[in-house]
Amino acid sequence: MDKILRERRERKSLNTNLIIFGPPGAGKGTYTSRLATRLKIVSIATGDMFREEIKRGTTLGKKVADFVNQGALVPDEIVVDILEKRIKEPNSKKGFILDGYPRTVQQAQALDKIAKIDAVIQIIVPEWIIIERLSNRRICRNCGAIYNLRFLKPKIEGICDKCGGQLYQREDDKPEVIKERLKVYEKQTQPLIEYYKRKIPVIEVETPQIETPPETIVEKMINELKKTNIIKTIEPQ
Ligand SMILES: [Zn+2]
Repeated sequence: MDKILRERRERKSLNTNLIIFGPPGAGKGTYTSRLATRLKIVSIATGDMFREEIKRGTTLGKKVADFVNQGALVPDEIVVDILEKRIKEPNSKKGFILDGYPRTVQQAQALDKIAKIDAVIQIIVPEWIIIERLSNRRICRNCGAIYNLRFLKPKIEGICDKCGGQLYQREDDKPEVIKERLKVYEKQTQPLIEYYKRKIPVIEVETPQIETPPETIVEKMINELKKTNIIKTIEPQ
């Protein structure tokens, strides 16, 4: 991948702009925040970005609020405007990891106009792991605390440790619904992966076991990024 390194030298910037894809229940949020910390870049989740913009009460924020309040999707032009603003902020100058965007090839093309994406990370998790993880998830009706019957059991069955509230299973955490969600994810993501594969490295990182610690996965991501020259050696933690 010498071409990439050369391009990056020509740009005279060593910022690292990444996109992360992963199925629901893959632990994407955890990996993204850890990877961002290791690479000293920011993680940008579109949902958080919207909330932030609404909170600030900016013109864009007001537009977003209108759509969100109506339960409508925020149109691509507005998302791209907010994203552009966000990646120009000083704390993004070393780069970013984009989580939850783009969701369509059209959005990917719009993104290409405002930022140079260096690589895509695709988290691959066997279906059985996702089902195991999500179908064991229980949530407190009262305080929203999350438990897992395998990894993070409540002390008393069905009762929240923190507030004594009742635990329940979300409708979309039931195996049949999870399978459906995974199909939707595949259908949505596949064209994007193909789009990026034609242009930049797409790094596949597998989580082969349910117990694989997040640090191991993040380390794998970093090693793969190094192999493609996207990042150079980074200081140890
Ligand atoms: Zn609770």
